[in-house]
Amino acid sequence: MKFTDFNLKESIQDAIKEAGFTEPSPVQKEAIPLVLAGHDIIAQAQTGTGKTAAFGLPIMSMMKADGSVEGLVIVPTRELAMQVSDELYRFGKLSNLKTATVYGGTAYAKQIERINQASIVVATPGRLQDLLMSKKIKLNPHFVVLDEADEMLDMGFLDEIKNIFTFLAKDRQTLMFSATMPKAIRKLAEEILLEPKTVSITKSESTNTSITQLYYVVEEKERDDALVRLIDFKNPNKCIIFCRMKKEVDRLVAHLTAQGFKVSGLHGDMEQKQREVTIKAFKQGGIDIFVATDVAARGLDVNDVTHVFNYHIPFDSESYVHRIGRTGRGGKTGEAITLVTPNELKTIKRIEKDVGTTMATEVIPTRQEVQNVKEDELIAKIAGTQITESAIRLVKTLQHDLDIVTIAHLLASMIQSENAILGKDKIGLTLDQIASAIERIRNDRSPSSSRNRNRGRSGNDSSRRRSSSGGGDKSRSGHSSRDRSSQGRASRNGGQGSRS
Ligand code: AMP
Repeated sequence: MKFTDFNLKESIQDAIKEAGFTEPSPVQKEAIPLVLAGHDIIAQAQTGTGKTAAFGLPIMSMMKADGSVEGLVIVPTRELAMQVSDELYRFGKLSNLKTATVYGGTAYAKQIERINQASIVVATPGRLQDLLMSKKIKLNPHFVVLDEADEMLDMGFLDEIKNIFTFLAKDRQTLMFSATMPKAIRKLAEEILLEPKTVSITKSESTNTSITQLYYVVEEKERDDALVRLIDFKNPNKCIIFCRMKKEVDRLVAHLTAQGFKVSGLHGDMEQKQREVTIKAFKQGGIDIFVATDVAARGLDVNDVTHVFNYHIPFDSESYVHRIGRTGRGGKTGEAITLVTPNELKTIKRIEKDVGTTMATEVIPTRQEVQNVKEDELIAKIAGTQITESAIRLVKTLQHDLDIVTIAHLLASMIQSENAILGKDKIGLTLDQIASAIERIRNDRSPSSSRNRNRGRSGNDSSRRRSSSGGGDKSRSGHSSRDRSSQGRASRNGGQGSRS
């Protein structure tokens, strides 16, 4: 299917071409025709699936650009407001459709002026309610979109949303997008939508298929070592590490900084300005690793996050879906890696069931295995390096006292010592131990089979990855760190001395 198969007006088709989109995403395929046919919709889609275009393209195609506000998009956070506005601006600029972004913490006058010139207003609930209640603005949009509705409810915006809808005309088309569909969302949908059509991409589509999901089983005290080893092995371009508590974030930031990583924490209680500066540094590469809580990472949209690490598994499946959706965005692939203790395997099984996905399990690489990967990278890097005049002079000077092979050995040793892989050699459980732990959980659930507890221990441990159902060995994935440049490593300051 192509975008030209939709009945979108020419200037919108041109904008799609300019954006470089070739094929509609699953949510776009389903939602665009329904919206163009005038239906209210309730769509289950998380960020990264192309949901902004799924509502933006059809509503903009139907807009008249008559100088009034024709569309209102309500979003949970300021960052999402800015991101959605940017995306809608791209789609609307050839159709003369202006976008105004409305959020708290900035002067009213400028926002009101922009709203008065806009066709679409993208707003957070608090400020929008303020403006409507104080009668500073009057809106009569035909298209109303609630974006990331579950996040808005989680953030306690239900009353604001209900109140905002009392200001809106009944004669409207309302579109609701939510990554998850808990009861409260369905109830809200009943109140604000009229005979909605459901956009239900299948479960496996709703968790983005470009994300590889893995888990590693470790003992509680091994989490820090496991995390550092995996970062070294995977060599992420940008990654987000999720923790359950803020104090865990602070501790991990300190720990990873001491290991020489470029890392920053993202707190729910960070000042907005500080948050923006930190996110900008992450986007621009000044920071490679974010350590965040679920709340702090809400609305965070950074395109080239290659890895998401769950330092602790989240309590509920919805948070899991939100977390892993921070990678594999915009048509790129990503890896979501979860660390669990044998006791937490139960949660893995529950999340797999709720989300309709299977995660594969792997064994944490040994020091030597990481070293091998690093050596491959180093060899490729050396082969691709330009010889400089000063290097020639340096080698000539060294040759006064040393032969050329000794010089080469010394230089290689120097480089390698700066990137030594530290920590204990073997971390976490082997595949056989994981299989036994999974079997113990199964047996715990079925009272009759406690006899079978130790079955499965005798298998051989040659394979490094297994699908979490226990069978079906798969070969190890070609890890991206092998072919990526050593960008990630370049950020390390060689501060390996503090590793335990
Ligand atoms: P969203 O889910 O709206 O946050 O979109 C995630 C990213 O995917 C954005 O950077 C979009 O520009 C991009 N995107 C949306 N639809 C498509 C498409 N059909 N083809 C390629 N990229 C897309």
